Parts: sequence; structure tokens; C-alpha cells
Amino acid sequence: MTQAHTPSDPEERAQIVFALRSCGITDPRVLEAVESVPRRLFIDRAFRARAAEDTPLPIACGQTISAPSVVGIMTQALAVTPRCKVLEIGAGSGYQTAILARLARRVYAVERHRPLARAARELIERELDLPNVTIMAGDGTLGLPDQAPFDRILLAAAAEDVPRDLMQQLRVGGIMVLPVGQSDDIQQLIRIEKTENGPVYSELSPVRFVPLLEGVAADLD
Ligand code: SAH
Repeated sequence: MTQAHTPSDPEERAQIVFALRSCGITDPRVLEAVESVPRRLFIDRAFRARAAEDTPLPIACGQTISAPSVVGIMTQALAVTPRCKVLEIGAGSGYQTAILARLARRVYAVERHRPLARAARELIERELDLPNVTIMAGDGTLGLPDQAPFDRILLAAAAEDVPRDLMQQLRVGGIMVLPVGQSDDIQQLIRIEKTENGPVYSELSPVRFVPLLEGVAADLD
């Protein structure tokens, strides 16, 4: 049997940066942030040899880690600055969370599967020097009223409509990026800028995300 070859750190970085550049990601801060977070840390051993592939991969609780190019597109569209307080809904593996934390002043991430939230928190604490991240279990459709308002909000799960609580918790002048769609097949990644005169919407690309579900999952842990 041939042993699956796990890409080395430089190989993984080179492949991921190539995938990002191929889909128009040019922001040097975004490229640097993605390069600084090894994707393989967030992937189960069984799939680790595929860590550099530009594709979603299974993680625990039946969820997926996003494709690097999608993480790159969302991160670039969010235009995070070092002064930003960011809310992420659907932390999953914590990969996108760690990248946001390299760019922002503070990141709060909410995940409805407790085992995923715990694993992501422990991994980031153990492997990465990111004291500005808080990952918690909860229902992200409600946002995080205690920490609002946010300068940036990123959703990694598809909503049928823009969740009202999240829109309220976005600061005027803030940006939200999220997949929106009625079905599993047809979703659009959109960017919303909340201006004094109301929200301004732009479409980024067609995508496929898991649905945004209400409530905290009843996992056995
Ligand atoms: N960017 C993440 C993607 C995870 S997939 C990564 O790369 O790992 C999307 C995640 O959204 C799933 O883990 C799912 O459990 C979570 N999710 C769905 N609905 C949610 C909700 N209402 N609140 C919090 N998390 C939610």
C-alpha cells in the first residue's frame, strides 16, 4: 500500500497561495494571513494528505472545513483592518477563525456544535499564538448581543435571508459577508455594507455552504 503523502508546510502554503491567486485574491494582508495558518492542523488525520487541495473536506459532527479559495474570497471581501472587532458565525474547524484573528483586533466566533467549538478553541490555544480569539458554542443566528456592535460579521453557513439580529449588531459603516440561498444548490456569496442610508448589497460568487440552522446541536459529548 502506498503511504498517503502529507504535503510539507512549504508545499501546502505554495499550493494554497496559488489557489487564492488564481481566483483573484491579491490583498497582501489576506495572502499573508492565510499563509501563516497551516490548514492541515484543522483537518482530521484521515484527510490530512489532502490539506493543500482547494476543496472542502469533512470535519467532525458531519460538517466541512471550507475550501481555501472560499476562505480567501470571504476574507478579502470583509476588508478586515487591525482595528476591527469581528463576529464569525459557524466556526467549524476554526480555520477561518484563525485567519481572521491574524487580521483583526478581536474575533468572537460562534459554533452550534459544542464538540467543534471545543476542538477549535483547544487547537488554536495549543498551536497558534492568537490571544485575541474567543470561540463559543451557541446559536449564531442570534449573534452576540453582549459584544455588539461589530465592525465585521462573517457567516460560514447559508441563510435564506440576512438574519435580522446580525444586521442589527453590525455597526454603521460595517461589512457583513454571507452565503444566501433558498436551497443547498443555489447560493450566492454576498457582501453587505451598512451605510447611514441603509444596506448596500453586492454579489460576489456562487457558492455551496451547509445551512444556517437554529439552536445549539444536541451532540453527545
Ligand atoms: N469556515 C468553517 C466552515 C465550517 S462549516 C471552516 O472552515 O471550518 C459551517 C459551520 O456552521 C458548521 O460547523 C455548522 O455547524 C455551523 N452552523 C450552522 N448553523 C449555525 C448557527 N446557527 N450557529 C452557529 N454555527 C452554525
